[in-house]
Amino acid sequence: MCMFITSIDIRESLKGCLIAGAIGDAVGFKYECSENNQDISFDFNWIISDDTQLTLATCEAIYDSVEIKPEKVAERFLYWYTHKRLVGLGSSTLKALRELQVGGHWALVGRTGEYAAGNGAAMRIAPLAFKKHITKLTIKDICTITHRNDEAYSGALAIYYSIKAAIDGIWKGDYGLIDYIIEKIPDTRVRDRFIELIPLQSLSISEIGKLYKSSGYVVDSVPLALFAAQKINELDYAMILTELIKLGGDTDTVCSMFGQIAGSLYGTKIIPDNLMYQFEKLEITDLISEIVNNWKE
Ligand SMILES: [Mg+2]
Repeated sequence: MCMFITSIDIRESLKGCLIAGAIGDAVGFKYECSENNQDISFDFNWIISDDTQLTLATCEAIYDSVEIKPEKVAERFLYWYTHKRLVGLGSSTLKALRELQVGGHWALVGRTGEYAAGNGAAMRIAPLAFKKHITKLTIKDICTITHRNDEAYSGALAIYYSIKAAIDGIWKGDYGLIDYIIEKIPDTRVRDRFIELIPLQSLSISEIGKLYKSSGYVVDSVPLALFAAQKINELDYAMILTELIKLGGDTDTVCSMFGQIAGSLYGTKIIPDNLMYQFEKLEITDLISEIVNNWKE
């Protein structure tokens, strides 16, 4: 049972978001797309994937300035791509990066159409919630770099507003998050899924998994990540990761997004020592410290 005080400093919240998200990504990545994940262990050599890498690349583009420039975010994505620092890229993101590499414009290279309704915008949008004066247009622009799709954007908005609600003390880890998000996002299939979850909120993660699993489709993964985040006052962080991994599907992304939201609310204190020890071996602690210590809201 988590009983933490919710008012934390913005830097601790950002640190919690980045680290709890990265751990979710690392533990989930091993089990991605495997079915019947019943025997879950976190004791293996972790690697992080695109969820964390593109979140950190976004941070690099925005941390030391109050202004967010999509072209700078695209430039950092391309830098990570050309330096072979991205693992497990989705097809829409890969398409955009290849076209950026040959000179494409950030606003035009993102994939369009129904197959662009992936998780790739939502999984990396979290850092924007730590900035003041963000408009929906800015959020859309940042999504557009890889996903020119309204479902992908709606999923990203859901993650953005969840984290913002955690930072602003509007959401305190209870069952109000999904109701709150339904009021904040446009009418899309992502929003429809949230509405379907309303009468099911008291179900356990394993029970909801019989109805909805995570997948590469943003409609499946973002609502499930928020459903899991609403359990953070009942179950501990590591247990929620385990339960999400057991469901199978896009386990790294759903665990990462859940971790980003829960970490934004409670900071790093939700992370048990054994997971923090494993995290420190990932060699992203210096980059995260640089980002957090120099963060401009
Ligand atoms: Mg991934």
